[in-house]
Amino acid sequence: MNLILMGLPGAGKGTQAEKINDKYNIPHISTGDMFRLSIKEGTDLGKQAKEYMDQGELVPDEVTIGIVRERLNKEDCRNGFLLDGFPRTIAQAESLEEILTEMNEAIDYCIHVEVPEEKLVERLTGRRICPTCGTTYHVMYHPPQEEGKCDKDGSQLIQRDDDKPETVKNRLAVNLEQTKPLLDFYEDKGYLVTVDGDQEIDHVFQDIQSKIDK
Ligand code: AMP
Repeated sequence: MNLILMGLPGAGKGTQAEKINDKYNIPHISTGDMFRLSIKEGTDLGKQAKEYMDQGELVPDEVTIGIVRERLNKEDCRNGFLLDGFPRTIAQAESLEEILTEMNEAIDYCIHVEVPEEKLVERLTGRRICPTCGTTYHVMYHPPQEEGKCDKDGSQLIQRDDDKPETVKNRLAVNLEQTKPLLDFYEDKGYLVTVDGDQEIDHVFQDIQSKIDK
């Protein structure tokens, strides 16, 4: 199964990606994660990507398409893959079509996890992260046992700068503007399936399964 996962920040893409990965046993390919790893390892790619990521800009298409091409050609993608964070531009979507055609493959579904904007604002601004172990909490939906403290190591929880209310709305607007043409692209191709992301995690996953197991 060759899948693309789309959704605005806070839609629960990461959580659903894990579940898809477990159930269908296909690699979860996140371009954001690949760039972060390259930065950590100090590779040339990492150095190139960091400049753009630090500015909140997209890494140039030729760089991003190159790493995705290389990744999709790896052995573990033979039975399928789940793309997350890619494509982000129409040029990337078109290149992906070319790469897959070369591989004699095609996208099966583009899964759009849809959540109303006001809910996303609530989810994102309520998010708190442990700076030590990376565990994520939510002040309403998943609070720590002791307010403001990580359950695992007791560290003081923090709010990511880009989860602050003043930046969340702007981040969502920019993302929506980027995502819309891609949703139209996959709708036109007949690959798009939309699931209601404003439900319990397991219900969202059941909806995904019922749409892609057809
Ligand atoms: P993410 O974790 O998906 O939010 O990605 C973090 C950052 O990595 C983005 O803000 C971009 O700078 C870069 N990035 C990730 N995926 C792409 C992509 N498909 N095209 C360009 N830049 C990307």
